[in-house]
Amino acid sequence: MAEDNKCTVQGSLKSVIEEAEKLEQYDEQALRRFIRLQVQNVDLDTWVYLGPSGDYVLVPGLFCSCNDFTIRVVGKREKCYCKHLVEQAVSERKKLYKTVNLESFEEYVKILNEIFTQNLTSTLRRKLYSR
Ligand SMILES: [Zn+2]
Repeated sequence: MAEDNKCTVQGSLKSVIEEAEKLEQYDEQALRRFIRLQVQNVDLDTWVYLGPSGDYVLVPGLFCSCNDFTIRVVGKREKCYCKHLVEQAVSERKKLYKTVNLESFEEYVKILNEIFTQNLTSTLRRKLYSR
């Protein structure tokens, strides 16, 4: 029963943060893969993890588009979060992420679309690496 209660919206965010505080060994390279998306005048809390084998969309403490989240968190309810949600909390706290300011809301939607349909956002990668 306690297990069920933990996976409420607030419970999940709290346990992600608790888990992040317990982590003593960080994969700093992984923490630097997080990108916070911003669009001027739009209130967003959307992050992207640029992974070695694919990109994920994250909403801190709530959602990640990886398979582990879909199968074990949403599907089987084995746990409340995936490792990316914990790493995102650590990355945010340690300020190891990058912020990318997007030109428009359309560009934001395009990036999310690329990740959901192709597992990889060439638009965001281009913005980051072509400077
Ligand atoms: Zn994940």
